[in-house]
Order: sequence, then structure tokens, then C-alpha cells
Amino acid sequence: MKIFNTLSRSKEDFVPVHEGKVNMYVCGPTVYNFIHIGNARPMIIFDTVRRYLESKGYEVNYVSNFTDVDDKIIKKANEEGKTAIEIAERYIAECKQDMEHLNVRPATVHPRATEEIDGMIEMIQNLIDKGYAYRADDGTVYYRTRKFDDYGKLSHKNIDDLEGGHRDIKVTGDLKEDPLDFVLWKPKKDGEPYWESPWCDGRPGWHLECSVMAKKYLGDEIDIHAGGEDLIFPHHENEIAQSEAANGVQFSKYWMHNGFLNINNKKMSKSLGNFFTVREIEEKYDLQVLRFFMLSAHYRSPLNFSEELMESARAGLERILTCCENLRHLMDNVTAKKLNEDERKILDEAEKFREKFENAMDDDFNTADAVSSVFELVKFVNTHVSENSSESFLAQMLARIEALCDILGIITTRKQEELDFDIDSLIAERQAARKEKNFARADEIRDELLARGIILEDTREGVKWKKA
Ligand code: AMP
Ligand code: ZN
Repeated sequence: MKIFNTLSRSKEDFVPVHEGKVNMYVCGPTVYNFIHIGNARPMIIFDTVRRYLESKGYEVNYVSNFTDVDDKIIKKANEEGKTAIEIAERYIAECKQDMEHLNVRPATVHPRATEEIDGMIEMIQNLIDKGYAYRADDGTVYYRTRKFDDYGKLSHKNIDDLEGGHRDIKVTGDLKEDPLDFVLWKPKKDGEPYWESPWCDGRPGWHLECSVMAKKYLGDEIDIHAGGEDLIFPHHENEIAQSEAANGVQFSKYWMHNGFLNINNKKMSKSLGNFFTVREIEEKYDLQVLRFFMLSAHYRSPLNFSEELMESARAGLERILTCCENLRHLMDNVTAKKLNEDERKILDEAEKFREKFENAMDDDFNTADAVSSVFELVKFVNTHVSENSSESFLAQMLARIEALCDILGIITTRKQEELDFDIDSLIAERQAARKEKNFARADEIRDELLARGIILEDTREGVKWKKA
């Protein structure tokens, strides 16, 4: 299996630190609002990576944080007359609901920055003791960036070019020794949450949170660290500087970054105001469609959000769900139970779609090609099943589709509301057919519904239906 590693800018063979185990950290959202569909991209992508690794037999320890103390949370709390904790609690709950509807599995652990302050103070002290950090006169603790020789190795930036870009900061008479130094601990301001520390009452810098939470829940050397590509610099570069200076070993073997979700070819972001929340999209689409849309592109490519692409994702997903539904329906109605010789051969032939799927996923999680192989399997199934098939054959075909969909996190059964909607639209179509005296079509619909276990009753108040 190959993974594109941002560190080497190339696809590398995946060899975990500990055989059979994968320790993975994904930077999570800052919780001051509903998440937007750009934030959903890394959640869906790395949840799929996790599912695929598990399908290969790895035991995956998946950690994803919530940043629950931050300027934006404090601002929102002040605007709404609430505490920062109340704001964070609310949006963590909302985010978890969105994740559930996107079929993103909860992480093994979802640590919160405010619950890990002791570990942060410990890491800062460690960095100060080793000469990688210092306290300025106002109590701020800075990281001494130039002391870390490898600074820039992830973003492939040259440290001297960086200083050129930041020269203006030096002129402002900052308390830093060097304009490149970044904050590990900052002093409290009025009305802000704070914690006591040996340097001043204050709160941690954002970059430090992830270094500390990854260390606590996954250890000093992790396998995969992931997030959106905007996090490469400075966030992940700074995480490396902190963790490797503090722990003395390579922090993460593989760094994975997803491309942006764009709208009109511009990055979707809260600051630009050009975003849709997951909740807004859910008003119009089942979130399975959003998931399927995200998986239909390669995770490192930019992806433009459009109604047209969502409609095409909806139609694609529909093809898969209809095939599964048809298989379940046939299974309930066929008479032959046992597999015959011809069917065994067809099942063997169907193995090639699983192989194609795995080859695509082994090549840096090419979900776009993996989805294509699911479509090919669906087409193959549709041409090889009928009411003459055996129950065992149908069940094994269904299991094959379901196994691939499960890796992609796609649920193959429809929700009850969708089923009801389907039934209602068929009934409406039947009424229209009867009005036009197209009784053949009307009967066909009645039979189709009956085959799905739905009995129609023509009553004075209109058509009613019940389960057989
Ligand atoms: P934030 O709350 O801004 O820290 O973002 C949480 C996660 O969402 C990070 O991994 C970001 O890189 C990612 N992210 C934010 N906006 C987008 C976008 N438009 N497309 C893809 N990923 C994004
Ligand atoms: Zn992070």
C-alpha cells in the first residue's frame, strides 16, 4: 500500500511503526459554529482511510481533537453572553451529530484542548529545559524556531526566506528574540478563560495542543498525521518542531493532506463567508450523497462544489442502493436455495472487482477509482441476477457490494423516510396512470409495491398503504 507523504512529496510504501497497528492523528475543528462542508472533507476522507486500514486487518487508534479554547470561541461567547465552554460544548455536540449523519465513525478518542492543560505545561517546561523555548517579559512563552534545524522540512520552505517575509514584525519591537518564534503560552486578557502556569496566568497556543494530545493518546512516534492542506504551514510545521524537539524522535512517519473544497473555484472558508454548513446541505440531500460526492474525487485534488456534481453523486448512489434493494427483494422471493456450478463461476469472476477496488485504494487511497469499481460490480450483478438465481448466490453478491460500500462508509439500506417518500411517489404515479386510463402501468406499480411488501387499499379518502 502506498501513501503520498507530504514530507517527501512522493508516494511511499506504508510500513507502520508497530506491525499490525496504526496510530493516526487528524486535526479537528475549532468549535464556535456549525461545521461547513469544507471541514467535512477531511472528516470523510480520513474516516475512509481508517476504514480501509481496518479492512486490511490493522488495529487503528484514531485520535481527533476539538479545539475548544480559541479567540473565535471567546468572541462568539462574548457576543452571545455565554461562557467559552458553553459555546464549545454546544458546537461539539452539533459537530458530532453531523459526523453521525455523514457516517463518520467517532474517533477512538476525541480529546479537548481545555482538558489537556497539564500535558501542555509539561511539554513547554521540557522545551524550555532543552533551550527550545523561552519566557518573554510579559509572561508569553515562545518557541525558538531557529534552534530546530529541520524547521521547514514539511512545507519545504527555507527558513531564511521565511524571515524575509516577516521582517516587518521585527520593526514593531516585539518581545520575541526572533520574528520566526511562535507562541506556546500566552498571557490572559480580561474576560478570557485562563489557567495558572509557572510563566503567567494564560492559555496555550494552538499548535501546542496537537503535539501534546498526539503524544498523550498515541505516543511519541505516530504513523499518520493528517488534516487539510492549509494546515501544512505553519500548524503542522510547528507541531513537528515542538514534538521532535521535546521527544527526540521523528513525530509522524506519514503526513497526509486533503485538498480544498472550493466554491466557484475559491476555497470555501468561514472568513470569506462563501460556505455552506453541513446542516444546510442536509435540508436538501441525505448526507450520504455528500459523502459519496467527496469520495468521487481524489482527496489531494481540489474539489469544486456544485449542484450538478451533487446531483450526479445522488444518481450514482441511487444506482448502488437500487441494486442492493433488488438483491434483497429477490432473496425473499426466489425458490432455489443452493449455489449451482455456473453461479460459483460468476462469483469467482466477480472477485476481480474487489481486486480493482483494493488496487485503487492501495494507490494512495484513490477513492475515485474505487467508486468506479463499485459501479462496475453493480453493473455485473445487474446482468447476472434474476428470479432464477439461488438465494445463496444473491446473498453472496449482496455481501460483496456491501463490503466495498462499508469501506467507503456508504450505507446500502435506505432510510425509512426515503422509503416512505418512494412509496408515496409511486402511489401518485399510479393515480396519474389510472386517470389516463393506463391500467397496465397502474397494475404494474401495484405489483411492484406488492413485491416490496406494500399493500395498497383504495379507500374513500384516497389510496392508503400498509405493510404485508
Ligand atoms: P478549522 O476548523 O478551520 O481548523 O478546520 C478544520 C479542518 O477542516 C482542517 O483540517 C482544515 O484544513 C479543514 N478545512 C477547512 N476548510 C476546508 C476546505 N474548504 N476544504 C477542505 N478542508 C478544509
Ligand atoms: Zn493540529
